[in-house]
Amino acid sequence: MWERQERVAAREGELLKRRIIRLGSMQGDRWRQIAVLYRLADGYGRRVSPHSFCHGMADGTTGCVTGVCCACKPDVFAFEQELLDRLPKRLANRGTCCPFFNRAKKNCGIYGVRPFACRIYFNQGRSRISCRNPAEETLQLFDLLKRHLAEILGPYGGGYHPSGADREMTDLISS
Ligand code: SF4
Ligand code: SF4
Repeated sequence: MWERQERVAAREGELLKRRIIRLGSMQGDRWRQIAVLYRLADGYGRRVSPHSFCHGMADGTTGCVTGVCCACKPDVFAFEQELLDRLPKRLANRGTCCPFFNRAKKNCGIYGVRPFACRIYFNQGRSRISCRNPAEETLQLFDLLKRHLAEILGPYGGGYHPSGADREMTDLISS
């Protein structure tokens, strides 16, 4: 079971990397490229999730409802930063979890436009400890893809912080 999980994640990670490199070499509208990139990530997720720890935490309809992995600042690239800066944020989340996490429903409040890093984040470890402390496999995949993602999403910017104090003040909403 564990070996199969590793094999699937490694195979799918390699496939994803090759597809991202190909996508990055194509000319075209930037936001269209990003839409395709996100579809690739979601395809990866559909194939890897059933073999990850996350699968056992899903309730059958809405997926994992613990939201433990959203107690973070999601990794973003420049174009994702630009997009997220335009969205409303939850003031009450400040200092505890991602500004887009819906704490009442315990799910992502911007699911359709969530960053690439969130789309490929699955607990590849054996226990819930790896939800917040990603297993090596999870970290390695993101590192492997980072420079190829930057071709499409712009420079890597680390964990998301809203840009500009004014924007933060006007966009923040309570949860
Ligand atoms: S990593 Fe953990 S908290 Fe996040 S979706 Fe998977 S099981 Fe849920
Ligand atoms: S953007 Fe959504 S999925 Fe990503 S950390 Fe924030 S709430 Fe979680």
